[in-house]
This record gives sequence, C-alpha cells and structure tokens, in this order.
Amino acid sequence: MHYECRYCDLGFPATYDGDTVYGSCGAEWEAAKIPVEDEED
Ligand SMILES: [Zn+2]
Repeated sequence: MHYECRYCDLGFPATYDGDTVYGSCGAEWEAAKIPVEDEED
C-alpha cells in the first residue's frame, strides 16, 4: 500500500517552508493523502 493525492493522483510529496505538500497541485499531504493498494501480478 502507498499513498496518493486525492486531487491529482500523484504520490510525490515535497516540503516547502516546513509544510509537506504535493509538488504538483500544492495540496497539503496530511489532508490529501489517500491509501492505494499496490497492484502486483
Ligand atoms: Zn495533488
């Protein structure tokens, strides 16, 4: 399982000025993260 952003479906947070946000859309990590099951064949 991993986390993705609920707004842009990306899972790559970045830290700006002490706040962890998503680099692509700027949503706050803690507020926007959703658990996603890893797909493994
Ligand atoms: Zn996002």
